[in-house]
Amino acid sequence: MTDTIFDKIIRREIPADIVYEDDDILAFKDIAPHAPVHVLFVPKRSLATLNDAGPQDAELLGKLLLAASAYAKREGFAEKGYRCLINCNADGGQTVFHLHLHLLAGRKLREPLG
Ligand code: AMP
Repeated sequence: MTDTIFDKIIRREIPADIVYEDDDILAFKDIAPHAPVHVLFVPKRSLATLNDAGPQDAELLGKLLLAASAYAKREGFAEKGYRCLINCNADGGQTVFHLHLHLLAGRKLREPLG
């Protein structure tokens, strides 16, 4: 797959406001936030889209969700609530073709999903 801006962030070639890291995942603040909290959880292993994930990636996908909920708990907004979403391909609104999970929080998220 092609090198994306997220690969460059993972390799520390361009800066990002990193809020979490483990062996498999890097999380950093979205550069154009849609909510007071807008963090991207990115697998370090390159997968372009959710379509490219297979059974071998089940654990990694679970870790993405668990990293997001752990962050919400750590930052104190888990009980108030938050939204996790993954955009896939053009109709899903995906613009960076390195799989990532958006975590949005910090205000009542009223807008519809589609
Ligand atoms: P998506 O539309 O689901 O592919 O989401 C891509 C997200 O990446 C958008 O919300 C962008 O604002 C965000 N983004 C693009 N470049 C950067 C960057 N250099 N640092 C942080 N977030 C970025």
